Amino acid sequence: MKTFEELGISENICIALSELGYEFPMPVQEAVIPILLSKKTDAVVLAQTGTGKTAAFGLPILHQIDLANRNSQVLILSPTRELCVQIADDLRDYSKHVAGMKILPVYGGASIENQIKALNGGVHIIVATPGRLIDLLKRKAAFINHVSTLILDEADEMLTMGFAESLETIMEFLPKEERNTLLFSATMPGEIAKIARKYMNSPEEVTIGTKNAGADNVSHVCYTVMQKDKYLTLKRLCDYYPDIYGIVFCRTRKETQEIADKLIADGYNAESLHGDLSQSQRDFVMQKFRNKHVQILTATDVAARGIDVDSLTHIINYNIPDEIDLYTHRSGRTGRAGRKGISIAIINPREKSKIGLIEKKIGKKFEKALVPDGREVCKKQLFALIDKVERVEIDHKEIEPFLEDIYRKLEWLDKEELIQRFVSLQFNQFLNYYKFAPNLNADDVKKTSELVRKSSGKQGKYDDDNFTSLFINIGNRDGLYTSSLMDLISKETGIRRLKFGKIDIYKNHTVFGVSKDAVDKTLSAFTDTYMDDRQIICRLDEGNTDRKIDFDSSSAPTRRSGRYAGNSRAEFSKKRKDFKDRTGKDSRKKKK
Ligand code: AMP
Repeated sequence: MKTFEELGISENICIALSELGYEFPMPVQEAVIPILLSKKTDAVVLAQTGTGKTAAFGLPILHQIDLANRNSQVLILSPTRELCVQIADDLRDYSKHVAGMKILPVYGGASIENQIKALNGGVHIIVATPGRLIDLLKRKAAFINHVSTLILDEADEMLTMGFAESLETIMEFLPKEERNTLLFSATMPGEIAKIARKYMNSPEEVTIGTKNAGADNVSHVCYTVMQKDKYLTLKRLCDYYPDIYGIVFCRTRKETQEIADKLIADGYNAESLHGDLSQSQRDFVMQKFRNKHVQILTATDVAARGIDVDSLTHIINYNIPDEIDLYTHRSGRTGRAGRKGISIAIINPREKSKIGLIEKKIGKKFEKALVPDGREVCKKQLFALIDKVERVEIDHKEIEPFLEDIYRKLEWLDKEELIQRFVSLQFNQFLNYYKFAPNLNADDVKKTSELVRKSSGKQGKYDDDNFTSLFINIGNRDGLYTSSLMDLISKETGIRRLKFGKIDIYKNHTVFGVSKDAVDKTLSAFTDTYMDDRQIICRLDEGNTDRKIDFDSSSAPTRRSGRYAGNSRAEFSKKRKDFKDRTGKDSRKKKK
């Protein structure tokens, strides 16, 4: 493996690279840098995002800049504002020891006056999004008639975003002779080949095939769940990976916002990024995400295009994109710069066929995984907590004055009990939330429904030919009585003349028979419903519920959202009054 010096990079740039932690060139850099340093040529480079292509073109162009000449000599076009800023930042980093190098990002959404002012001062390298550049060219604020190198970064995305015409316009302003064009793209659709033919002269071709760092480091995992369970699955996966730092890709702006809102309401550190936000809102969100003040970013494909964050642990596809190429772009955002990444697809049974198409495209198999159950999630969380305990830094000076009293107060507990109590303090709420967490795997959900439909056996307490026995975790102490239970179930399922079998109300739970044809609806009506801060859990009765410990169902899950149980606020208020009258307690349901 060669060093940057051996590739011909000048000393002051090499110093900056080692300050950035770049020890050795990445494959695309090793392939491209010598070509661009040795001759003036056009080039088409096929490489995924995250493979180090900014330095591959950035380092050689820094060498070719004539600092004494104030004309713009290099133009880099990028499909998005975020990528534009990122490229300019990278180039500034690489050239921080090169005095007088002027690099300017110009993109829409930011003040055009400031950009004009900066352009007037003379800029060697312009990094631009097409729309804003055309605006500046037409105002005669930017001049690109001395540009000797044009770079099209993420050219395939530029075309997908409809910039083909803008490209034509920009070409009109560029010199026809004495110009080299470098095109970087993750894929080579026919349109790109057309551009290469039209604007380039026998370009050098470099392909950093599937052997790039991005593709090698990414594993692909797929979870098949019912459509209605996708959000619960997302939440569960976020709990399963407590240190997740990732992007959740959604189909529409509305869905992107909704999922982020739900996650935030459920206590997750999430934000959304989509086209309905203003530029300053997007910048703000991106800044928080880059600084890791936000762990989970929900985003549309378009908004996420410019996101260039290295250390993402996960990409989550909330649904499979219609265009397979989009999947490649999405998953290429993780597993960068030598790190490992996981690209997750949460699919419904109907989306299964698309997985095969993607597998063909990426040349890799998905691991068909099962959504972790409550126990697995709890175990993961517990060990994450213990890891934190092991890693925490102790400020001896600050806690010293309190320790003597604390030791004395805890003297009566031995080490084992102290650990148990300390863990429980942090962990009880989690355990309670997951105690009755449903199985979300689609095959199993289907099997359960099948079982219920076919079942004429006496599984549940009141199972017979007409009724199936269900369990719900509200009871006597919530002020529940027969008619209010019937009322609640009818309203939640939306079935008016719902037939009930026997109803047994216990202190903390209730077992009731419901007509067989209404079982599925009843079970799915309670997947996201809350009373007080507690999730209402409704499941098949296993026939021995009344003999089980009448568990303390008042423990609140740590993360929650959901609807009011019941239909309207007025009904809720009435019911609350009833609860209060009967129990002397106020029973308030969690707000949306
Ligand atoms: P890019 O494909 O240009 O977006 O690069 C992906 C990431 O890899 C960026 O964060 C770069 O800072 C990083 N990177 C690029 N080249 C190197 C290198 N030679 N060594 C270590 N990291 C690099």
